Amino acid sequence: MLYRVLLITLTLSLFGCAPDASTDQATATVETAEPATAGDASAELVAKLALADEVDGASDHQIGKCYVCGLGMDGKPEFAVEVEGYTAHLCSDYCREHFANNWQSVVGETDIPQSN
Ligand SMILES: [Zn+2]
Repeated sequence: MLYRVLLITLTLSLFGCAPDASTDQATATVETAEPATAGDASAELVAKLALADEVDGASDHQIGKCYVCGLGMDGKPEFAVEVEGYTAHLCSDYCREHFANNWQSVVGETDIPQSN
């Protein structure tokens, strides 16, 4: 029984879902004024966006590669989506739509290619 409690505690701390995190969130919401859908963006996702930003060789908050295509395709300005202050260029209307609706899981699941 004790083991089980320990396991749950460990799981909670691993995923950063400790109860007091929600109080921080409530305070932060006032200053960031994010859209409701992006309100749960974690620092981890923003860090990944920053890495993806560097894949095209410039840290200019413009992600030049298509995130939906694993950052392997060139994105186009006409298929851009803005998240967390980054403008992600997607390669097609399909990718733009998919990224706009699921960017948190796309960013979370995409491995950043090593830049050369
Ligand atoms: Zn694409």
